[in-house]
Amino acid sequence: MADLDCDAVVVGSGPGGSTVADVLTAGGWDVIVLEKGRNHLLDLEPPYGPKGEFSNDELKFVHRHFLGPDPLLEPRTYRRREADGERLFTGDVNNLPSTVGGGGPHADAKLPRFREEDFHLRSARGPIEWAKLADWPVQYGELEPCYAEAERLIGVAGDAGANPFAAWRSGPYPMPPGPDMFGAVLSSAAAEGRGLHPFRAPTGVNSIEWDGRPACNNCGFCGGFGCPIHAKGDPVSSLRRALGTGRGQVRPESHVTEILLDGTGRRATGIAYLDAGGARHEVRAGHVVLAGGAFETPRLLLLNGVGNSSGLVGRHLMFHFQTFVVGGFGYSLHGHRGRSVTHLHDDFVVPSKEDLVAARAAGLPWFRGGTVEHGASGTPIQEAKTYPPGAAHTAAMAASGLRDKLWVFTMQGEDLPQAGNRVDLDPAVRDAWCRPAGRVTYAPHRHELAASAHWAPLLEDVLRDAGAEWAFTSTSPPQGDLDLHESNPLGIAPASRHVMGTCRMGEDPATSVVAPDGRFHDVENLLCADSSVFVTSAGFNPTLTLVALAIRTARLLAGSKGAHPRAP
Ligand SMILES: Cc1cc2nc3c(=O)[nH]c(=O)nc-3n(C[C@H](O)[C@H](O)[C@H](O)COP(=O)(O)OP(=O)(O)OC[C@H]3O[C@@H](n4cnc5c(N)ncnc54)[C@H](O)[C@@H]3O)c2cc1C
Ligand code: SF4
Repeated sequence: MADLDCDAVVVGSGPGGSTVADVLTAGGWDVIVLEKGRNHLLDLEPPYGPKGEFSNDELKFVHRHFLGPDPLLEPRTYRRREADGERLFTGDVNNLPSTVGGGGPHADAKLPRFREEDFHLRSARGPIEWAKLADWPVQYGELEPCYAEAERLIGVAGDAGANPFAAWRSGPYPMPPGPDMFGAVLSSAAAEGRGLHPFRAPTGVNSIEWDGRPACNNCGFCGGFGCPIHAKGDPVSSLRRALGTGRGQVRPESHVTEILLDGTGRRATGIAYLDAGGARHEVRAGHVVLAGGAFETPRLLLLNGVGNSSGLVGRHLMFHFQTFVVGGFGYSLHGHRGRSVTHLHDDFVVPSKEDLVAARAAGLPWFRGGTVEHGASGTPIQEAKTYPPGAAHTAAMAASGLRDKLWVFTMQGEDLPQAGNRVDLDPAVRDAWCRPAGRVTYAPHRHELAASAHWAPLLEDVLRDAGAEWAFTSTSPPQGDLDLHESNPLGIAPASRHVMGTCRMGEDPATSVVAPDGRFHDVENLLCADSSVFVTSAGFNPTLTLVALAIRTARLLAGSKGAHPRAP
């Protein structure tokens, strides 16, 4: 350590990077976390209290990029396929917040586990043409203790046993579920009437006082907003613990631009970053852990020409193919109270015999959908922008037909890995630091489209059974003219904030980027701790799985096999 600044330097302070910092500092390591965004989350000096900068303010969070990034300063580009030319769109492409905590403070934190089958889908179901399906090198049984630990560390409220499709678990959730949203009570009853199995969503939000933070008060500004009272646990809980050891440091506004290697090119010696004033600094470390998220991690590697002997860095990019089924009711559903989503059903992750017949009719050997979120509709300013101006605007807002009276199912459909779907460097567009912007090339596989078309009509029927006067379906990326995503004026790029797969994990350096222990095949002390390593996307929100993997990676690195010493 004599000539090193720390044992490990971590790039990114989101759920992945914060978890690594937590586990390593608990194991006695000195860790520096570098975060390119600003810090609005917690004081970085003892006692690490909340900064009090979050509020129920739609202008601040949704329109003024309070948690960053500003797409004018950090643009990304998008095209569907190479034949589209260099790009179709420049701006916000699958942006996650760039801030201390990453996407954690912004998310509404449904935190399901993957199922056993998700880790060996290719063996279980067989190949599909044009999809690069592979089994994960880690299986559910090995990851289960890390899932349990992740749920305790974050603080997940849920109802073990309520979901008949859930994987086995070694114990209950740390907290009981919070209160149900009114709309979800209606949609759940209707779903049960159609033979589906809704349950209370496992959520990283306190339902009781936990870890020194209060219970959620269901303020209603959850998904897309920082929590004003810190009832969300991800990742404030892990950052606080890491800082509390006295061995962890978080440096906001520190933009990592270089991965530094020794003369052999097989060992990292540290990183270089630019501070808020543009001055360059180096951090020399025994290990470098990349946790910039599955978009920025491959971008940093490609900018540095590191880790890519397989040519696969950035490839196999996956989102979830989102199917939105919207129902309009004649009365208020009280969506302005609650945690955005309180119920899920997982029936479409495990296709029935009839579903598989439909898959074969669509020319596929099988298909799977994804978890279905029962959720409220949008926010007041978002609604206001949908009505024409003038006298009728006031009446339309008072009636609130496009917010207060809407209920929405979102299916997070499994998105199969394809080599052509990728993040690479745009040849012309630059960010404010003159570095090439990341570019997404992405088009869904026929699997996703067929699965979405198969299950959407049933979801529309459920909404009508629940009392909706009308219902319609849209998708992200959109397939028709209909686009609900105002953030992207062209309406073509996927809006999903679940980004996965761009440094896939595997045993073979020819077909994967990262080894099963999280180390890059090419650079022995460079590791990855975000959802870049996912081999498949499953039909579940990714964060709990990436946190469980980050625990495993950090524990293997620290050589400690025991449970987290300070888990509540
Ligand atoms: C509105 C919303 C709702 C969501 N809801 C859910 C949900 O219900 N359930 C769920 O599972 N997921 C949800 N997500 C997704 C979830 O936020 C992400 O899966 C999660 O944040 C990914 O964690 P991560 O640590 O891999 O990356 P991130 O959270 O993206 O963190 C990466 C951090 O690294 C920083 N960084 C990147 N590059 C550099 C660099 N070069 N130098 C320094 N710092 C860098 C970034 O600024 C960022 O802060 C939601 C996201 C949003 C936006
Ligand atoms: S709904 Fe609860 S967890 Fe979400 S922002 Fe409001 S108080 Fe926080």
